Amino acid sequence: MKGYKIKKGQGLVLENMPSDLEHDQIKIKVSRATVSNRDVVSYGQDEDSVVLGRQCVGMVTELGDDFLQKKSDAKGKGVFYGLQRGDRVVVSPYLACGECKNCLANKKSICNHLQVVGKDVDGSLRDFVIAKEKDVFVLPSQVTDEQAVFVEQVAISLAAFAQLSLQKGDHLTIVGGSVTGLVMAQLALYYQAIPILVDMDETALRLAQKLGVVYTVNQVAVEPKKKIFSITSGNMSDKLALIAASQIGASRAMSYLMRGGKMAIVDPGEEYRQELDSQSVAGLVVSKQVNLCGVSNGHDFMKTAINMLANKAIGVEQLISTVVDFDKVGGVLSDIAGAPHKYIKVLVKF
Ligand SMILES: [Zn+2]
Repeated sequence: MKGYKIKKGQGLVLENMPSDLEHDQIKIKVSRATVSNRDVVSYGQDEDSVVLGRQCVGMVTELGDDFLQKKSDAKGKGVFYGLQRGDRVVVSPYLACGECKNCLANKKSICNHLQVVGKDVDGSLRDFVIAKEKDVFVLPSQVTDEQAVFVEQVAISLAAFAQLSLQKGDHLTIVGGSVTGLVMAQLALYYQAIPILVDMDETALRLAQKLGVVYTVNQVAVEPKKKIFSITSGNMSDKLALIAASQIGASRAMSYLMRGGKMAIVDPGEEYRQELDSQSVAGLVVSKQVNLCGVSNGHDFMKTAINMLANKAIGVEQLISTVVDFDKVGGVLSDIAGAPHKYIKVLVKF
């Protein structure tokens, strides 16, 4: 097994690693992975990292002894574990402990010890991933490997909608035309809400238009507040999702929201916490009586997300900007480090 890590003083290295399987683990041959924001952050730091990569899809190639044991216990009648060799699975980008108070109450998205793959534990930019059954989701044949790498973005969008109590007819302003923003805008259409996408990148806005998002606002070309005032007939937005990767200040985004509106700061994998901490938004939360919430993961919506992709609720293939081979990951990371907005989604092929 080999995976990409950052080594202090050496930069990106492809490192060999042990491939032994614990009794309760499964081994997955990765077929598709992606390059995440976290990987770019790690690439820019001269610090030892875990294996990079947050999202991946692959095929189960080996099952730990527990699985074989349980299988024989069942004497061939119904397998205790659902997983089989050859199953295509998506690996959860977040690992809940399963033991804390929130996990026991089945609220794993707010697990007190939630770990992010590729940040806290070894990630998916490796040829084989070792995981536990609770952290993988079997893919139906209707979802291709290329679509399945978007499960996290769909899941986190669904988590944001739940927090925002998004309703049919709501104006939902999405600040940030990253891959998460573009997925969320399409999903909002599916839920019959009215998405308004704000970004400074004209390419992302044009892509959103192509995907059916009618209201796009270039925050550099026009005054977004005025434009949103006009789109919403003077009411401003009912709901707002600030995609943290946009690095647009929370107080500025809040000015697009109506009084008493709901706002979610969406930050997959908690990459931008420090930048957001530096914003002083408390005063606005009070004066506008905003319901502010944070969404850092889509843990509880992974299965729903897979189902939505199977039902073609949104188009995701158009969001793939480039496909690179596993041995070319170094080149693409250096590319993004020089031009952060060059790609919307980078797919890694094995
Ligand atoms: Zn927990």
